[in-house]
Amino acid sequence: MHAAIVGAGPTGLFTAIALARRGHRATVVDRDAGPAPDGSWDRRGVMQFHHPHGLRQQIVEALEAELPEVRDALLAAGAALTIVPAEGEHPSMVVGMQCRRSTFERVLRAAAVAEPGVTLVRGHADDVLRGRGRAGGVRVDGRELDADLVVNATGRSGRFADDLRAPGTAADCGLAYVSRQYQLLPGAERGPVNAPVGLMIRFRGYLAGVFLHDNRTVSVLIARPSTDRALALLRTTAAFDAAVQAIPGLDAWTSPERTRPITPVLPGGHLHNTYRGQLDADGRVALPGLVHLGDAVCTTNPTAGRGMATSLMQAHRIVLSLAGHRGDVEAATRDFDAWCTEEIRPWFLDHLAVDADETRMWAGEDVDLSRPLGSGHIVAAARADPRLMRVVGPYLSMRALPSSLAEAEPRAREIYAGGWRPPIPDGPTRDDLAELIAPLASAPSRALLPHQALLPR
Ligand SMILES: Cc1cc2nc3c(=O)[nH]c(=O)nc-3n(C[C@H](O)[C@H](O)[C@H](O)COP(=O)(O)OP(=O)(O)OC[C@H]3O[C@@H](n4cnc5c(N)ncnc54)[C@H](O)[C@@H]3O)c2cc1C
Repeated sequence: MHAAIVGAGPTGLFTAIALARRGHRATVVDRDAGPAPDGSWDRRGVMQFHHPHGLRQQIVEALEAELPEVRDALLAAGAALTIVPAEGEHPSMVVGMQCRRSTFERVLRAAAVAEPGVTLVRGHADDVLRGRGRAGGVRVDGRELDADLVVNATGRSGRFADDLRAPGTAADCGLAYVSRQYQLLPGAERGPVNAPVGLMIRFRGYLAGVFLHDNRTVSVLIARPSTDRALALLRTTAAFDAAVQAIPGLDAWTSPERTRPITPVLPGGHLHNTYRGQLDADGRVALPGLVHLGDAVCTTNPTAGRGMATSLMQAHRIVLSLAGHRGDVEAATRDFDAWCTEEIRPWFLDHLAVDADETRMWAGEDVDLSRPLGSGHIVAAARADPRLMRVVGPYLSMRALPSSLAEAEPRAREIYAGGWRPPIPDGPTRDDLAELIAPLASAPSRALLPHQALLPR
């Protein structure tokens, strides 16, 4: 079988290599040329390329199952496995990988380039070639590329094959990113951490985070309500610098004695929770021979770090489905769509509720006990009663679907009804931050472009 895969992001590359290893040919088409000869990579069209990524164990597992040497190459490139140490009867566990998104893609791309059976082609995929009621290839910059299987892995903003399935569902996540990457100075100790990913603190009206990456690099994040015009000013260097120095936790990580910035301050674009399956409005495979994967199926609020996990879980699943159905692409697509409905869509639905709760909390509203508690509230309640972690833990690690939290809901409700609320740590409130940065916002930004970010060594 020859697969034409549109999109050389994590989903497209993973799928291409895994298919090639199962005896197929894969041509990956992307408008992006890949890294320049000097190593820089201006990844236009993938706005999150230099934003923080926390990589979950599902990603490590997908690599181990299909591309184990890519996992090893990532570690050789400076990535580290995130390991939760043994506690009581629980053995130590790998829960993810510390790696910049850009390092991940560089290593995966190099593996795809080296893989016999995979060809990378630069070009814009305009349309799906159709004949006899099925997909027969891709039109790339006006030229025809024939294929038995067409994969749409064009990501969250791809428009390819947009009209070839039923419309999806989308809702604003309600928040926006501003982040910057730093590197620890030689000999400098790490700053404070409170989570496998690094540091994550919910302040009054915004979220502050530090993501541990490869080669002693970290991303520092401030996530603000997307409607908050005053905090949008954080995109300027002077405002961001002042904010991170004022926020406990971020101040330690960004002090000039500990780290130096290696990217400009990076504002993020709009963030949406989206879900779109493979079928048409009548519930049939919309175009046999065409499969949509990764962010082209589901995107979720990135603060929970589920996007690459759900993308590679999908990529792994479709490869298994195609193998199981022995080349019957339509049957494999149907099987895959049913699996996504069971295993991926619940995360999208969960985020709709969690994000709506978060937006209400950022606006100063109290938890609403007249409705079933959302996942975010149930998770937070485990701080008041750690026994809830038995149920909450598997949800947090995506080992159990959001519905598993129902068991903990009554106890969480009891906790809130008793008057408990998640403690908000000391630090500037949203209003304090807005006041701090307002006079700084017009100060000039440093002229460093995202693609000038330090390369992994
Ligand atoms: C701000 C932010 C932070 C995130 N943080 C995390 C995190 O912490 N953890 C996590 O797991 N996930 C995170 N994610 C999600 C993660 O980035 C995505 O899930 C991931 O990029 C999906 O990979 P993909 O290959 O499906 O799509 P993409 O990475 O978007 O790749 C799509 C590719 O398709 C190409 N393309 C598009 N259209 C065409 C066309 N017509 N012709 C040719 N090429 C085309 C693009 O150039 C691109 O290379 C985050 C997302 C955002 C926005």
